Amino acid sequence: MPEFITPRLRPFGTNIFTTMSRLAAQHDAVNLSQGFPDFDGPVFIKDAARDALYAHSNQYAPMPGVPALRRALAERFTRDTGLPCDADTMVTVTCGCTEALPATVLGLCEPGDEVIFFQPYFDIHKTSVILANCAPKVVTLRRPDASHPEFWFDEAELRGAFTPRTRAIVVNTPHNPTGKVFTRAELQQIADLCIRHNVTAITDEVYERLVYEPSRPHVSLASLPGMAERTVTLSSMGKTFSLTGWKIGWAIAPAPLTAAVRAAHQFMTFSIATPLQYAAAAAIEREQEALGPLRELLVNSRDLLNAALTRLGFRTEPAPSGYFILADYTPLLKAGEPADDTAFSRRLIERCRVAAIPASVFYHDAELGRPLLRFAFCKKADTIREAIRRLETISGA
Ligand code: GLN
Repeated sequence: MPEFITPRLRPFGTNIFTTMSRLAAQHDAVNLSQGFPDFDGPVFIKDAARDALYAHSNQYAPMPGVPALRRALAERFTRDTGLPCDADTMVTVTCGCTEALPATVLGLCEPGDEVIFFQPYFDIHKTSVILANCAPKVVTLRRPDASHPEFWFDEAELRGAFTPRTRAIVVNTPHNPTGKVFTRAELQQIADLCIRHNVTAITDEVYERLVYEPSRPHVSLASLPGMAERTVTLSSMGKTFSLTGWKIGWAIAPAPLTAAVRAAHQFMTFSIATPLQYAAAAAIEREQEALGPLRELLVNSRDLLNAALTRLGFRTEPAPSGYFILADYTPLLKAGEPADDTAFSRRLIERCRVAAIPASVFYHDAELGRPLLRFAFCKKADTIREAIRRLETISGA
């Protein structure tokens, strides 16, 4: 019943994560579609949440977030980037990065302003721009080829996307769905253009701690010379602590940009669950404890899944970070069968009972994603093994 939906949101329908998780449940499939762990974050964080329910207020938190969490986030940002960060004027706690993105775009941009982002993208990078009535300018992350071992962008294409109407660029690193970790050199190209055109950068860094190759560390765009004053850095608790359901995220930016984020945030969610913010502060104090075992689990699950997909005939792309493997399924098509990622993912769910995301939804130019499926590996090894057992039947499917 689309008739009441504003025309600018009609093309998006129900988001793919809701659709695929519902289908996975219907078919009793192993759900490797929506990216969420099938295990919980560390017990000490849940204990801190339980204690906070009794030790602290259960009324509205201050609009920008409870001071204890903002202080913990400010110190963490300084540790990570070497940049000064004032907890009062530079940190805003939001309902996950999923609120922080539209809050930032809505707070900063006028209808008609151009906002640049890369495809493939996580859906809200595009819908935030559409919600704010801004004009999307899309730059393609191209698939690896003989001369590029990883997803890459053409500098001239990026340069061409900047116009006098460009207000902001959204950069997601480490990247969903490709797992790409932008290199310092790539970020420098983006930084140079932002500075030359006086453009604000909005970074989505929710996978910042989930990088698996020591040679490919995560770099925050804000830490590059000249970028601190023009970058809004977004991240969240969900991936770092395997607590995606807590929906605690944040925006860190210089005071004038923070004022813009808060101008919208105060009228979106106003403030975030008070006790969970205290627990988030406790989690951040002991972050390193949680990360070692998590990375080990994720790398093991990634490697299990990647090896199985390759053995079954998929062409996979390297995933040096994050939760996901992008896999080209076209070598498995029967002769003459057209590449249709939606149809192929349906077949996987119905016949193998494994759910993955058809990658065309991550593309502005849907055809570019047609040969690809996205598999989430943020699951226990047993879950991945069960998925592999089911995928083994694919040739008969
Ligand atoms: N970030 C998760 C993913 O990419 C899902 C988030 C959501 O369901 N909106 O799968």
